[in-house]
Amino acid sequence: MATIETLNGPLDTAELGTVLMHEHIFNITAEIQIAHPGFNGWDPEVEIPKANEELRALKVAGVDTIVELSPIGLGRSLDLIRPACEGTGLNVVLATGLYTYDVLPRPWHFSGPGTLLDGDEPLDELMRADLRDGIEGSGIKPGILKCAIDAAGLTEHVERVVRSVLRIHKETGAPICIHTNPTEERGLDALRILEEEGVDTGRVMLAHCGDSTDLDYLDKLAQSDALLGFDRFGLNILLPFDDRVATVAAMCERGYAEKMILSQDANCFSDWFPPGLNEQVTPDWHFQHVIDDVVPALLERGVTQDQVDLMLRDNPRTFFER
Ligand SMILES: [Zn+2]
Repeated sequence: MATIETLNGPLDTAELGTVLMHEHIFNITAEIQIAHPGFNGWDPEVEIPKANEELRALKVAGVDTIVELSPIGLGRSLDLIRPACEGTGLNVVLATGLYTYDVLPRPWHFSGPGTLLDGDEPLDELMRADLRDGIEGSGIKPGILKCAIDAAGLTEHVERVVRSVLRIHKETGAPICIHTNPTEERGLDALRILEEEGVDTGRVMLAHCGDSTDLDYLDKLAQSDALLGFDRFGLNILLPFDDRVATVAAMCERGYAEKMILSQDANCFSDWFPPGLNEQVTPDWHFQHVIDDVVPALLERGVTQDQVDLMLRDNPRTFFER
C-alpha cells in the first residue's frame, strides 16, 4: 500500500479519488496584513467560514482531494488552513518549498552559497524540517515540493530555489511541482535542469502548461514523463475557456491523456487583488469549474470518460505512487 501525506495524516493513495492537482486555499501576504490589517479585504473571521463552506460544497460536487500548492511566498499557514478544511471530508495535500519569480526573501541575500556569509543553502533545511517534523513543527507533513520558473527564467535566486528543491527531492523522494511560464517556454528550462540534476521527470508536475495553445511546445513537454498541468481553468483572462478546452482535447487526440491533469489554480481568498475583482473579471475561476463546466465541454469535444478519469483520478494517483 502506497501512502501520501495529507493535512489529516498519511492517506492510502487508493483513497485519493477525484483530485484537483493545483489549487490554493488562502494566498495571504503576511507582512502586509500585519502592517495594514484587512488589506484588500482580508478578514479571517469572514473568509475562513466561507472557505469551509466552499470546500464542503466541492466534496459534495464529487472532488475527494485537492493539492494545496502554497509554500513560502504564497502565505501558507496552518492556523488558516486547518479551520478552513475542518469537517469538509476533503483530503488536502500540502506543499513545502518557495515561490518566487525572480528574487529570494532578504535572509537568503546574506546566507547561502556565494553570498556574504556563504554556507549551505538555507532553504534546504527549512524544507527538510517541514518533511521531517511537519509544517510549523505540527507533525502534518507536506506531500509535495514546489518552486517556480516564470518569465524571468532561471535568475540567480530562482536557480538556487530550483536546485534546492531538486536536492531535497533526491534526499526524501517527495514529488515536485514546478510552476512554469509557457509563453516563455519555461517548461523546457525545467526539463533541462531536471536532466542536469538527474531527476526522473516522472516525479515532476509542470504547472500551467494549459495557459498555452502551442501544440509544438506541449508536444515537446509530453515527450518527457512529466505530468502536464492544465490547471488554470477559469482564468479566462489569461486564455479563453474554448482555447483551454480545445487544447486539452487536441492533446487527448495525440494520445497524451495519461500525461495531463485538470485543475483551476483557484483560491478561497487572495489578497493579491482588490475585493470583488474576481467576481467581475474571472467569474468562472472557482473550485467547481472543472467539474461543472470543463468536463462536460471536453466530453462534447470527443474526449472520452476514460480519458477524463485518467486526468482527474488515475494520473494523480500514479504520480504520487511513483
Ligand atoms: Zn498555483
